[in-house]
Amino acid sequence: MDINEEHLLKTFLELCRIDSLSKDERAVADYIKSKIGDKLEIIEDATGNQIGGNTGNLYIYVPGTGDPIMFSAHMDTVGPVGNIEPILDDDGVIRTAGDTVLGGDDKVALAAFLEMLELIDGIPDHRPVELVITVAEEIGLLGAYNFDVSLIKSDLGYIIDTSQPPGNAVNAAPGSEILKADFVGKAAHAGIAPEKGINALQAAARAISGMKLGRIDEETTANIGIMESGNATNIVPEKAHLEGEIRSHDSGKLITQKEHMTTRLRDAAEKIGAKVKIEWKHAYAAFKIPEEAASITRLKKADDTLGLPFELLPGGGGSDGNVFNEKGLECIVLGCGMNDVHSTDENVAVKDLNDIARLVVELVKP
Ligand SMILES: [Zn+2]
Repeated sequence: MDINEEHLLKTFLELCRIDSLSKDERAVADYIKSKIGDKLEIIEDATGNQIGGNTGNLYIYVPGTGDPIMFSAHMDTVGPVGNIEPILDDDGVIRTAGDTVLGGDDKVALAAFLEMLELIDGIPDHRPVELVITVAEEIGLLGAYNFDVSLIKSDLGYIIDTSQPPGNAVNAAPGSEILKADFVGKAAHAGIAPEKGINALQAAARAISGMKLGRIDEETTANIGIMESGNATNIVPEKAHLEGEIRSHDSGKLITQKEHMTTRLRDAAEKIGAKVKIEWKHAYAAFKIPEEAASITRLKKADDTLGLPFELLPGGGGSDGNVFNEKGLECIVLGCGMNDVHSTDENVAVKDLNDIARLVVELVKP
């Protein structure tokens, strides 16, 4: 039972041509529904309404034998989009002309799922399969956060959404916290009465210059990425706004760095009599799946059968995998050969498209 490469490619190209920015995934969801028809029940949840989008997460269940297995991928893409025209070059790589993204992130996975569904009836004793196809991944994992994981019957899952060759997987990813800080000082005329002012911008600058930022250690990074302040050179600035982030594979180190940055912000404000309002927002939690976990041993077995590479790597960012793990479902993130994602150079080799589809088919076997 092998995949139909021609059919898979056609599906992938059709998916790429459909614009699906975050919160506007409707046409992709409808495409998936039309391909599945009334063969299977498809549940679309209410996430669209909850996040101000036009589409909910899709949940598709395929009955089977033995332990169920879950796969997940997202329907939305980053921009630029608009008349996306995927081109298959002579080197076997699919790109665009360069005006838009390709959308291979994450439509490679969606095409692989649809191909697996075409074949599944012919796979003897295949496992029950659950597909969770999320929305709004690219704007803060909103679909996964709003998905009701109590629907999931599987003990483990595979998120197909990372720039590694099919076979490899990300089994650890950092957690992240987002910072917003607002300094409030006092405005005054900078030439006539500067002593009446409290310079919020100076407090913010002092706070930043006292912070450890960049690569804090081998598993922790920190950044201040936005600073906004001031209206005119002759006004002592009353307000200053900062935004930043921390990522760490270790939640203890993340908290230590958070306390360090909070202390620097408070001290800098206090030093000149300004006030500071500090807001930390949890973006996503870290996860680390041990090598002996069932999701990994099963992947290794499938990779060996198909002759695919097998390497476990730590990820540097957040994905729906962080959310599902945080919600208690063991998930690793599978490579699917998408390259230069989030850019107009985005590309996918046909070989990798075929390999990820084969891997999905292999994983549903008993
Ligand atoms: Zn993605």
